[in-house]
Amino acid sequence: MLFSDFAEALAKLSETTKRLEMIDILAELFRKTDKNLIDKVVYMIQGKIHPDYIGLEIGVAEKLAARAISNVSGASVEKIEELSSKLGDLGSAAEQILMKKAQLTLFSEPLTVEKVYSALDRAARASGSGAQETKLRILAGLLNQSSPLEAKFIVRLVVGTLRLGVADYTILDGLAEAFVGGKENRDVIERAYNLSSDLGLVAKVLVDKGFDELKKFGPQVGRPIRPMLAERLTTAKEVFDKIENEVSVEYKLDGERVQIHKNGNNIMLFSRRLENITHHYPDVVRISKESLIAENCIVEGEIVAYNPESGELLPFQELMHRRRKYEVEKVMEEIPAMVYLFDMLMVDGSDLTHQPYYYRRSMLTKYVKENLYAKIVPNIITRNPEEIEVFMNQAISEGCEGVVVKDVNSVYRAGAREFSWIKLKREYRSELADTLDLVIVGAFFGKGRRTGKYGAFLLAAYDKEKDMFESISKVGTGFKDEDFEMFHKLLEPYKIAHKHSRVDSKIEPDVWFVPSVVIEVIASEITLSPIHTAGYGIIKKDAGLALRFPKFTGRVRDDKGPEDATTVDEVIELYKRKLTKIAAEEVDVDRVS
Ligand code: ATP
Repeated sequence: MLFSDFAEALAKLSETTKRLEMIDILAELFRKTDKNLIDKVVYMIQGKIHPDYIGLEIGVAEKLAARAISNVSGASVEKIEELSSKLGDLGSAAEQILMKKAQLTLFSEPLTVEKVYSALDRAARASGSGAQETKLRILAGLLNQSSPLEAKFIVRLVVGTLRLGVADYTILDGLAEAFVGGKENRDVIERAYNLSSDLGLVAKVLVDKGFDELKKFGPQVGRPIRPMLAERLTTAKEVFDKIENEVSVEYKLDGERVQIHKNGNNIMLFSRRLENITHHYPDVVRISKESLIAENCIVEGEIVAYNPESGELLPFQELMHRRRKYEVEKVMEEIPAMVYLFDMLMVDGSDLTHQPYYYRRSMLTKYVKENLYAKIVPNIITRNPEEIEVFMNQAISEGCEGVVVKDVNSVYRAGAREFSWIKLKREYRSELADTLDLVIVGAFFGKGRRTGKYGAFLLAAYDKEKDMFESISKVGTGFKDEDFEMFHKLLEPYKIAHKHSRVDSKIEPDVWFVPSVVIEVIASEITLSPIHTAGYGIIKKDAGLALRFPKFTGRVRDDKGPEDATTVDEVIELYKRKLTKIAAEEVDVDRVS
């Protein structure tokens, strides 16, 4: 398959923001893709060459890519960088520069998708001292053979700025449209994706083995399952408006969610974001080997840090030191980790995700040998709100955030946030009602002690439907002096000259960022605002939703990607709940007076 055909499809995709058009373009592209290339084409549309959990990125810095463009075109690196900041993108700069060159040269052998993919794969695998030079050579080699349009997308792919605005779910729609007659059969494809977190693999099974084979798709060791998530409610009473059955009420531990995959003696750990975090937790690997007694299985739980002297559970932040590779051994001694398990998704080859929760929990009990460091999350089974309250107070007094309440008859719906899992947290009780996990999309320079640093941030919620980040708040409180230093460094790689194409904001901050960093914010309430764009026009014609008295809680959610941030739908739901609460309180007041 010619790479020029692929580049043209990418150009069309980047020119539209309409989902239906995207689906058509994708379906047409998938239909004409050679069978053996379908997975590769899918990964490249996602802007990668392997699924995320493999952890292999092409990893070319903009500077290095500019050198490659310079080698091929003769233009100076400075001139290329200048053009890149003028156009807002190095890919477009490469295209323009090579356009001039193309008038002089006729490229001989056309590039194929196979060739580009395997070159990028080689670049990604280059390691050690000569890695940078190898990547440079590979990229220059490709650019030497590319047309200006091809160069634009190759450069965007290698520096990680392809961002077509095509959500994973749109790619699923494209596959459904191309191979199984559209929307009606999409849920089978979606399920396979949720169970494997690997769109390329799903496309390959569909094309190579067919739709019937895809229907049989189950969880596999080594491929992280997209986690099932919880909705939130404020009181135990409301739980039974949503759940008809008995519920399992469980401690909500404040740690890092983990999916443990076991195959014989081999253990792999995946985070909530589906990254392979095995090397961060050698202690959890050891604990898993000792306590999981099935030959192969997939279980889920929460890793928590504890104080080795008092045995007390410690807050989530303590685990974040593990993210620094060189410190793991040291941190492991000072702040050891243990694991509380709460679900079993596969055991000895059989898929448990279709089974009701009470059965999965019984399997967990059967296949986990509990010890000091591996436990099954404490729970009670009930239909009584008062019992939930009592259990919740007990959980909080033992250092938990609250409880998670689960419908005992619910199946495991990978990737879904539904009311069959409900979280009730302590902070929902207080004046300051809700914590939200929001994405930093911009920053404002500070004054006084904060001069030269960012003094406040523009935050956005995620609109899943539109695949956009919509502004919801400007936050400047809750930060310690050292936080500003830390944010400056943390955000540096994401700085861009203009508003990102997936950000919707009427406010102009001093600096824009690629939506990447997620922080936790607490606010007194959700209000309507004409200047913010989250849920604009949904509750009221000319207003979006905003936060009143927002404050940073001190927690950077490294465990969340931007698409895992609080969604606009959740914010709307919280706003509506506030209205219901006010209405109920007014009724109470009427009764009293
Ligand atoms: P939060 O920000 O409240 O931790 P989240 O957005 O990361 O939530 P949710 O699905 O909303 O994820 O809440 C469930 C999270 O709570 C899980 O991802 C998991 O990390 C944690 N957790 C702790 N104890 C349990 C439990 N017993 N069952 C399920 N999840 C639990």
